[in-house]
Amino acid sequence: MNEKMKQLVDLHVHSNESDGSYSPADVIDFAVKAGVSAVALTDHDTIAGLAAAACRAADYPQLSFIPGIEISAEYSPGIMHILGLGVNPTDAGLNAVASRLRESRANRNPQIIEKLRSLGVDISFDEVLEESRKDASPDAVLGRLHIAMVLVKKGFARNIADAFEKFLGNHAPAYVPKDHLLPAQAVAAINSAGGTAILAHPVQLECANELQLETLLRKLMHVGLGGMECYHSSHNDVQTRTYLRLAQKLGLIITGGSDYHGLGKPDVAIGRPPVPMSIVGEKNIMRWRGQAAGLPA
Ligand code: AMP
Ligand code: ZN
Ligand code: FE
Ligand code: FE
Repeated sequence: MNEKMKQLVDLHVHSNESDGSYSPADVIDFAVKAGVSAVALTDHDTIAGLAAAACRAADYPQLSFIPGIEISAEYSPGIMHILGLGVNPTDAGLNAVASRLRESRANRNPQIIEKLRSLGVDISFDEVLEESRKDASPDAVLGRLHIAMVLVKKGFARNIADAFEKFLGNHAPAYVPKDHLLPAQAVAAINSAGGTAILAHPVQLECANELQLETLLRKLMHVGLGGMECYHSSHNDVQTRTYLRLAQKLGLIITGGSDYHGLGKPDVAIGRPPVPMSIVGEKNIMRWRGQAAGLPA
């Protein structure tokens, strides 16, 4: 194998601009330490960390930095997240979407706290705010992972997984749906911002079988989906192989990432699972990387 074929990428990581633990600059340092050749910062519903990440990435000529976002879309029974890779962070439409989603979270978070309190779980919005703002920017996107961390800290749950199972998960008693974009709207916003829309961690869609996923993918491709995240820290080998086969069959770009969050998901390491750049396509990486050029360095 030549050197190029050994290059690995991580196209899905979070910083403390959403529910990751570390700053965008730290996340870039970690990616370099992990030895990946390309990394995409894909915070939930925000592009606020992209300039700082690009700035730090400029210190590492061996690293391709890809500006990204992870948008939650309306879907049931599971959850649908759509990654935008190579988005232009100055795009007005994308900024409008991010503002709308921020507003929707501002409405939802107090409702979750209210539900928890009605279940006898005594936590306050201020405690969650403190958790999310520990080292973050003043307006970091606040999500369920922050609430889960407070629940663990105060002894209401054994660990993060327990907090989601008992209280916060999509089928749990304190779940409150977000006011989501439709999948087609999320895909369109990403495409308009010059990016590629990628279906994230398809396992979380909870499709009953492969045909159901294929049908859904075809519908999404019809509105502009460009790829699927076949490699992900939550996929087992059988799932990964299935997704790779489907992506190849449909002509979707294959991507993958760790979904690194830091302390909130201690079992997930940046750069794992290994995702070969050759499978994603070096041309795609270079195209997505191009959008970082517009960011202040
Ligand atoms: P939100 O965007 O506020 O709905 O929160 C989504 C975050 O919660 C993402 O980081 C998910 O990975 C995390 N999450 C959702 N379900 C679970 C779960 N069952 N266990 C751990 N984290 C979860
Ligand atoms: Zn998250
Ligand atoms: Fe996700
Ligand atoms: Fe994610």
